[in-house]
Amino acid sequence: MEFYFLGTGAGMPSKQRNVSSIALMHPKMTWLFDCGEATQHQILHSPIKPRKVSTIFITHLHGDHIFGLPGFISTRAALEGTTRLTIYGPKGLQEWLDATLRVTGTYLRYPLDVIEVEAGKTYEHEGFTITVDALEHRFLAYGYRIEGRQETGMLLVDRLKEHGIPSGPLYKQIKQNESFEFEGVLYESADFLGSPKPGVKLAVLGDTTPCEASIRLAQGVDVLVHEATFADTETEHAGRFGHSTARQAAGIAKQAEAKKLLLTHVSARYVEQEDHLEREAREVFPESYLMVDHQSVQVKA
Ligand SMILES: [Zn+2]
Ligand SMILES: [Zn+2]
Repeated sequence: MEFYFLGTGAGMPSKQRNVSSIALMHPKMTWLFDCGEATQHQILHSPIKPRKVSTIFITHLHGDHIFGLPGFISTRAALEGTTRLTIYGPKGLQEWLDATLRVTGTYLRYPLDVIEVEAGKTYEHEGFTITVDALEHRFLAYGYRIEGRQETGMLLVDRLKEHGIPSGPLYKQIKQNESFEFEGVLYESADFLGSPKPGVKLAVLGDTTPCEASIRLAQGVDVLVHEATFADTETEHAGRFGHSTARQAAGIAKQAEAKKLLLTHVSARYVEQEDHLEREAREVFPESYLMVDHQSVQVKA
C-alpha cells in the first residue's frame, strides 16, 4: 500500500503545491482523501486510474478540499468507470453534489453512494474499519482512522511435520479454523501458527488545531497524515484560524505514539523556503516528513 500526495497546499494552489488531495493506493483499489480543485489534473501526472478509485473520504466542505469533486466524478464516468463509487463526508455533501450534478446536467453511468458521517461512529468498508471523529477547525471537519484486519500467522510447517501432519487441504483448514482433527486427534490450530500479523493502522486528519480527537484517532498508528499550515512564527495565527503549525502536528504524533508523521496542507507563503517546517516538527517528533506534490510513501500492508 502507499500514500500518494496529489495536492499538499493550503487554501489556494501555488505553482508548487495544488490544493488538498491524497490517494491511498492498494493493489485492489484506490481511495482518495479530499478532492480539491484540479485533483483530476494532478491525477493525469500520477499512476492513479480514476476508474480504480472506489472511495473518497471528504474531511470537510471547505472549497480547497471539495471543489475538484464534480469534475473528478464526471471524468471517472467518461473514462469507463462503471463500478460503484462511495463518498464519505460531512452533512451537506449529498445536497451539494445533487444540486451540482442536476444543474449541470451531469449523468453518471455508475452507482454513487454518499454516506454522511457522524463523529464517534465506525464504518466497515472494503475490509477496513473506519473511525470518524470531529476535529477543531471553526467549521465542521472530520478525521478518519483506518484499521486493517489482523491477519492469521504463518503456518509452522516444521512443527506440523514433527506431528506427521501432511501438507494438503488440511493446511488451509488450520489457517481458517480454531481447531482441526487428524487421524482421530483434535489439535488447536494456534499451536501450529506463528504470531498473528497486526493490521495496518492509519489516520488522515482534516484541517484542525491540536485537539484531543486528533490524539484519539492517531493513537498508535503506523502513519499519521496531519496538516501543517504554518511555521512556529505563526502559532497564534494558526490557533485563531483553526489550523496547526508543523511543530504542533509533531506534538500530536508524539502524544499519540504514532510511528511516522506526514505533513501536508502547507501555506503558500512558504513557497521555496519551507525547510524549516520539517525541522521544527523534527525537534518534537524525529519521524516527521514534509510532503510535496507527487510524493509517494510506502505503508506496510
Ligand atoms: Zn484546507
Ligand atoms: Zn478548512
